[in-house]
Amino acid sequence: MRKQIVAGNWKMNNDVAQTESLLANLKNQTKTTNAEVMVAPTFVNLASAAKALEGSGIEAVAQNMHFAESGAYTGEISASMLKSVGVKTVILGHSERREYFNETDETLAKKVDAALANNLRIIFCFGEVLADRKSNNQEAVVESQISNALFHLNADAYKNIVLAYEPVWAIGTGETASPEQAQDMHAFIRKTLATKYGSDVANNTSVLYGGSCKPGNAKEIFSKPDVDGGLIGGAALNADDFFAIVNAF
Ligand code: PEP
Repeated sequence: MRKQIVAGNWKMNNDVAQTESLLANLKNQTKTTNAEVMVAPTFVNLASAAKALEGSGIEAVAQNMHFAESGAYTGEISASMLKSVGVKTVILGHSERREYFNETDETLAKKVDAALANNLRIIFCFGEVLADRKSNNQEAVVESQISNALFHLNADAYKNIVLAYEPVWAIGTGETASPEQAQDMHAFIRKTLATKYGSDVANNTSVLYGGSCKPGNAKEIFSKPDVDGGLIGGAALNADDFFAIVNAF
């Protein structure tokens, strides 16, 4: 079922005290929309955040996970470990994971399978770099990122998949895709899903926008018919800004 979602990706920010303080500030905010709200703290703070947010209407989600169930993968975290601390959703394929940690479509397909096998919901990120946009190649790039990592799945799997279109040139740069650029790409993503799976999957899958989304531009971006919410980086580190975005619907 297509939902409005605003998810905050805290990346490698906030130690224990800062996490506690931000969570307390978030719990003091008032939500005036139907949007589902999620935040993704670092792994060190994920279990305590999940506990602190119980009953708050805000979900603590993971920024990443490994595809293996357990074993000799130093520094990694498995799907069942996430579940054991009450996590139900994981972000996969963020452009920073792709760029700095060499995550490929192939690795991501394995992570997707492991997450779904463990009944985790996935926020699957993808998006073109600036050179692709400049050469007008963005649709081909996005189509291949989606199809390589997700098109081995059956239609039923999409009940647990949220897509997040994040043009890399807009992440953390202050440069945002225009609402029209976001809408055009989201419509293309839905068309790509419809071609492969039919209109039910295309119309029922939430597609979020990410890339310098702020209180000042969220309303216009979220007003576009194929934009179902946002994955928020920088602005998610401030509770007032984050909830201004949540309440922008
Ligand atoms: C992100 O990292 O997913 C993101 C969208 O970051 P920012 O909002 O800071 O551009």
